[in-house]
Amino acid sequence: MTAPIYHRVALIGLGLIASSMSHAMRAKGLAGEIVGHAKSPETRATALELGLCDHVYATAAEAVKGADLVVLAVPVGAMAAVAAEVAPHLAPGCTVTDVGSVKQAVIEMVAPHLPDGTCFIPGHPMAGTEYSGPRSGFATLFVNRWWLLTPIDGTPPAAILRLQSLLEGMGAKVNSMDAAHHDQVLAVVSHTPHLIAYTMVGVADHLAQVSNSEVIEYSASGFRDFTRIAASDPTMWRDVFLTNKDAVLDILGRFAEELFVLQRAIRMGDGEHLFDYFTRTRAIRRGIIEAGQDTSAPDFGRSAPPPPSS
Ligand code: NAP
Repeated sequence: MTAPIYHRVALIGLGLIASSMSHAMRAKGLAGEIVGHAKSPETRATALELGLCDHVYATAAEAVKGADLVVLAVPVGAMAAVAAEVAPHLAPGCTVTDVGSVKQAVIEMVAPHLPDGTCFIPGHPMAGTEYSGPRSGFATLFVNRWWLLTPIDGTPPAAILRLQSLLEGMGAKVNSMDAAHHDQVLAVVSHTPHLIAYTMVGVADHLAQVSNSEVIEYSASGFRDFTRIAASDPTMWRDVFLTNKDAVLDILGRFAEELFVLQRAIRMGDGEHLFDYFTRTRAIRRGIIEAGQDTSAPDFGRSAPPPPSS
């Protein structure tokens, strides 16, 4: 156990990310007190039942009072309203951070509301699952995962270092970058792949011959991984695409061009092109494993689904 890094942490939104933060902070004694707010009474009751929060409040305004760290952990589309609500109630000197998957839009939504004497340090944990809600969190979600910060000019370095020690205390690796660069990188490594997964599952669903039983029966192949990604929270992902529009459209354009080239190679029987292309992509996969961002275990590190009960 270390000394608490913040005395009172207010979690606004109590879903996957906030509940994982609570478990991780509690496990390491990183916060003196954890309080929270979520929209629905059910989520607030669950947060108390699970011990995620010492107190929950019916409004975000009440929850942030006296907090030296406020974490906005709501869907990106709700950030502006939440920031406007909490701003008049923030304690002088407090740090506000967020965990939104898009950074430029969140900065535009949040920063204008915050009063002088508080500081906003935008952040994004690059960790998640396809599950959501307060019961989905776990203490090790952030271990060895990147937590990207996109600090705004003029932010006191001491405030950034303090937040960084909390994130590292939860097991994350921290890096800082410009918000526009963050959004472009995420469009490549996360946002567009999700859109492709949603599309692929949608295509299968449209094909009547596979949509009934075959898609379930034979989904032990690559398709199963698409379905896992496509099971991600619809609100979160709607907001991601609406707010990282330009970067995602840019990557989708490049994707379409590459796809046409591969489509042509298939049509023309150009095996050499396909082989060379797949050799390059395989090397990228090896790089990800070497960087410790995934396991080399077969089947994407997950165990096979249970056999169907007959
Ligand atoms: P989640 O599990 O769906 O939880 C969202 C939480 O926000 C819920 O507690 C919800 O309350 C609350 N909420 C929604 N609108 C609200 C409002 N207007 N006022 C107050 N509370 C509100 O979401 P999550 O996966 O933790 O995602 C939270 C943020 O983290 C998002 O911005 C997302 O982009 C980002 N993020 C997610 C992942 C991921 O893989 N999931 C990874 C990195 C970053 P109710 O339960 O009462 O509805």
